[in-house]
Amino acid sequence: MPKVVSRSAVSSSTDAQPTASSTAALRVYYCICGEFILVIEKSLTVLPKRKTDEAIIIRSQDTPSDKAVVFKLNATPSEPVLLERDGGHERQYRFTCPRCNLLVGYQSSPPPLKSAPFLYILKGALTQMQGQVPKDALDGDSDSMITS
Ligand SMILES: [Zn+2]
Repeated sequence: MPKVVSRSAVSSSTDAQPTASSTAALRVYYCICGEFILVIEKSLTVLPKRKTDEAIIIRSQDTPSDKAVVFKLNATPSEPVLLERDGGHERQYRFTCPRCNLLVGYQSSPPPLKSAPFLYILKGALTQMQGQVPKDALDGDSDSMITS
C-alpha cells in the first residue's frame, strides 16, 4: 500500500512563510467571451489600481525594491492609441482578446509584452468564471469602454 502523505500538514505553523510552489496559487482569468486571457500568481483584487482609469496595475519588470508579478497574458497586440490626460497625453499600446477583440489591457511601450514596467488590465475586462460577465463590467464611464 502506498503511503498517503497529507500536504496540509506542512502549513500547520501560523507564522511560516509560504515556500510551497507558487503554482498552487495561480489564478486564471477569462475574457467575457470565455477565452482564456491571463494566468497570474496573485488575485487581481489585491493589486493596485490606477487613479486615472481604475485599471489594475501588474508590475511586469523587476526593480531593486520590487519583484515583478509572475503572469502570462494571452492577448493580441493592437494599434497604439493616444489619450488625453490631465497635464498631457498618454500613449497606450493595447492588447485585445484573440477571439472577440475586446480590449483587455495596455502598456506604455510597444510590444512585446513586458517591455514596459507595468501592464494595465482594464477594469471589468476579465473574470475568473468562464462565461460569466464580471460584476463591474458595465460600471462607470471609462473612456476606454465603447458603447453603442
Ligand atoms: Zn473575448
